[in-house]
Amino acid sequence: MNPTESSGILSFSWDLHYACNYRCPYCWWHGRWEELARGNVYPPSDKLVDIWRSIYYSYGGGHISIVGGEPLIYPEFGKVVREISQMFSIGIVTNLAGDIADLLRETSPSRVAITPTFHPGFVDFDEFLGRAVQLKEGGRGSAVLYVAYPEQLKRIPEYGERFKKHGLELQVFSFWGEFQGKTYPASYTQEEKTIIGSYLGERAGKKFQLVPSKVKGKLCRAGQRYAVVKANGDVAACGGDWPRMMGNIFAGTFKLQDQPLPCQSDFCPCNEWAYLLLPDDATN
Ligand code: SF4
Ligand code: SF4
Repeated sequence: MNPTESSGILSFSWDLHYACNYRCPYCWWHGRWEELARGNVYPPSDKLVDIWRSIYYSYGGGHISIVGGEPLIYPEFGKVVREISQMFSIGIVTNLAGDIADLLRETSPSRVAITPTFHPGFVDFDEFLGRAVQLKEGGRGSAVLYVAYPEQLKRIPEYGERFKKHGLELQVFSFWGEFQGKTYPASYTQEEKTIIGSYLGERAGKKFQLVPSKVKGKLCRAGQRYAVVKANGDVAACGGDWPRMMGNIFAGTFKLQDQPLPCQSDFCPCNEWAYLLLPDDATN
């Protein structure tokens, strides 16, 4: 959980770019990489930092979760994070398959947390474990993320125990998508839910959904205290199905709304509802 969730502090999720050295079948972007990559924008790092500085001056500090694609293969990533972390605390989600030395050298553990995600189809367990332990010992965090994709779900308890022996906590995300003609997470069987069991991760103290919650019409602070920045600079209120669009950071048209508004999406797959819905509307 990022340190600002539940606290009402401003936070962003930043899809830095749509590029990755893996091709996980359960990725949000699976089958769309080429189309999405057309929207990738790689401005000079100084310009990127200036844009976040201007957001900082307008709204104050907060937290930025940097996701992707894979952040570690973004040009000058260590430098960009070093500068932005002077204004915002940073969380980075990475597959750890890129050069991380630059980032570790340039940034402070007190400002930049790093959460690795284990993708067994693309990396050897022991190789990944060594890198994750290095992060933990460097004070960057002790969680390891994993997706409960039906094909790789049965090994959750085994992986959980193996990580635990090294002081790492496996946190499982539910899979949102289609597998063998079934729609997940709604199609998880009782047996699969039991396997996921205590490894199911959470956001703001609320477990990820194994049964999708209905959120449409509920009052939500998405777009007021939170926003999702896309690689092309477009900003969405959240990661829901029909988020409000809120301008573009590169065009200088991004503006937060000044009040909570009713949710327009049927479901909240990114689980932002857990800390953005107004208390009386919280589900589950
Ligand atoms: S490593 Fe992450 S971003 Fe890359 S394909 Fe897998 S899930 Fe997607
Ligand atoms: S409940 Fe979720 S999907 Fe709906 S507006 Fe809030 S963050 Fe977006």
